[in-house]
Amino acid sequence: MRKKIVAGNWKMNTTPAEGVELAKAVAAGTRNVDKSVNFIVAPPFTHLSEVMKVTRGTGVAVSAQNCADEAKGAYTGEVSAAMIASLGVEYVLLGHSERREYYGETSATLNKKMALAYANNLIPIYCIGEKLEEREAGKHFEVVKSQIEEVVFNLTAEEFSKLVIAYEPVWAIGTGKTATADQAQEIHAYIRSVLKGKFGEAADQTVILYGGSCNPSNAKELFSKEDVDGGLIGGASLKADDFIAIGESF
Ligand code: PEP
Repeated sequence: MRKKIVAGNWKMNTTPAEGVELAKAVAAGTRNVDKSVNFIVAPPFTHLSEVMKVTRGTGVAVSAQNCADEAKGAYTGEVSAAMIASLGVEYVLLGHSERREYYGETSATLNKKMALAYANNLIPIYCIGEKLEEREAGKHFEVVKSQIEEVVFNLTAEEFSKLVIAYEPVWAIGTGKTATADQAQEIHAYIRSVLKGKFGEAADQTVILYGGSCNPSNAKELFSKEDVDGGLIGGASLKADDFIAIGESF
C-alpha cells in the first residue's frame, strides 16, 4: 500500500499571519479525515517557523517550496536546506515548473538541490511535467523521462526510497484545465515504469502525485486511478475547506 498524500503549494500567497490562520484551519479540519491521508502544507519561507509551531503534533507536515543549491555562504537572498531542516520542516518541493521557467532551474541545479535536501534529511517532492507544446507534439513521455533520468537516476536506492514525485503538466497549472483521470493514469504508470527500470520493485512504493488545477470536484476521479497517489494542489490549497475536501476524495 502506497502512502496517500495531499500537499498544498501556497506559492507566493498569504502574509505570515494569514498563513498561520490557514495552517490552523487545515490542522483543525484534517482531524476528522481518515488517518491514512497525509496532509502537507508548503508555505513561503517567511512563514515556516510559525506554521511549524501551529502544526506540530497535528499530523499536518510542512514543506518548503525550494532550497538553495549551495550549502552556505555568500549567496544573497537564498535559503539553505540546513536552515529549513533546522525548523523541523520535513519536505521540500524541488523542480516546480515555475522555478524551471522563471528562475532557470536546470537538471544541474536540481541535482545540487537534491543532494543538499537529502544531506539535511529533507524529503524532496520532485516536480516534473511537460509544457503544452510538448504535449501537443506527443513528446510528453520523453520530457518526463529526461526529467527523471537526469535527476532521479542519480539518487542512491536509499534516497530513492524516500522520494515523492509530483507529475504536473504545465498546461494544467493554474489554468483551470485539468488532465483527465485517464491522461493522468497513463503518464503516472509510465513514470512508474521508468522508475522501475532503474530501481526495480522499490518503484512500486513511490508516491506519485498529480498536480494541475486539482480541486474538490475532480480529485475523486483522479485519485481513483491506480497510479495516482494523491495531489500537489496550488490554488485550491489556499482555502482550508477545499484543501481538506480534496484530502477526503480518496
Ligand atoms: C502547482 O502549482 O503545484 C499547482 C498544482 O497549481 P494549481 O493547483 O493552482 O494548478
